[in-house]
Amino acid sequence: MWSRAVRSLWTNPLGQMRMFHSNFAGKVAVVTASTDGIGLAAAQALGQRGAHVVVSSRSQANVDKAVALLQNQNIRVTGTTCNVGKGEDREKLVQLTLDQCGGIDILVSNAAVIPFFGKIIDSTEEIWDEILSINVTSSFLMTKLVVPHMEKRGGGNIVFVSSIAGYQPMQGLGPYCVSKSALLGLTKVLAPELAPSNIRVNGVAPGMIKTEMSSPFWKNEEVMSEFKKRLSIKRTGKAEEIGSVISFLCSEEASYITGETIEASGGFNYGF
Ligand code: NAP
Repeated sequence: MWSRAVRSLWTNPLGQMRMFHSNFAGKVAVVTASTDGIGLAAAQALGQRGAHVVVSSRSQANVDKAVALLQNQNIRVTGTTCNVGKGEDREKLVQLTLDQCGGIDILVSNAAVIPFFGKIIDSTEEIWDEILSINVTSSFLMTKLVVPHMEKRGGGNIVFVSSIAGYQPMQGLGPYCVSKSALLGLTKVLAPELAPSNIRVNGVAPGMIKTEMSSPFWKNEEVMSEFKKRLSIKRTGKAEEIGSVISFLCSEEASYITGETIEASGGFNYGF
């Protein structure tokens, strides 16, 4: 029984040896908005390479589901609720991580909302407050909270989840596009400031990834057929295809990369 369990850990369903990357062994990774989609895939990618991952989102039920899923994959995981727009929730997330994991090495700031679709000129102050608070300000404030703890560990990695919408305005998504452009700027500004503390700051700019958030787009055949014309790889991306980029950016393999945002979009053509 035991030997079968051990064998299944070391081989994939085809009986081939699994490649184990343990370069995050002993590291602690906080991933915001990580009970679904790209955040969950990032937690999975980091956890599979040995990190203790801390997952969170607004709903306790979603947290419980994500923790169970990761535990079933033998990933070391801690879960808690955290609405990144609330200061007390951000502080609770960091404190719980310190109490239960002893430090912080990696922050993946992934949370975002799209509360508005239409002409930017019709968007309201409330919409701007919400988008900037969740998509941008919380990324900065999470950074501010974790940096002193990364410094205590001798360094760390921060990854912001931006979007190709940060480079190319998407029709109807004006304020969201602006928020994602702001993350490109935040990455550039923080990188030189945190480099002396051995903290690298990078971003990822996904294209259309098949998740709940993007479902109004990929479920619409007309939108998808127009979108595909701009792609070299003519399909939506998978959340794991962004999780792997995030884990690469946090790894030693990316030790000379900081201040960059890597686009993973299936070759989205901006000049179309
Ligand atoms: P998703 O699959 O819909 O998952 C969203 C996650 O965020 C859920 O776990 C949700 O859980 C959590 N969440 C929502 N609001 C939150 C808040 N205020 N505080 C904490 N957690 C919150 O979304 P996704 O597509 O993976 O998007 C993740 C990131 O990728 C976002 O920054 C998005 O802008 C970016 N992105 C996505 C695409 C795409 O095509 N999908 C493309 C480019 C960029 P709860 O409901 O329990 O809070």
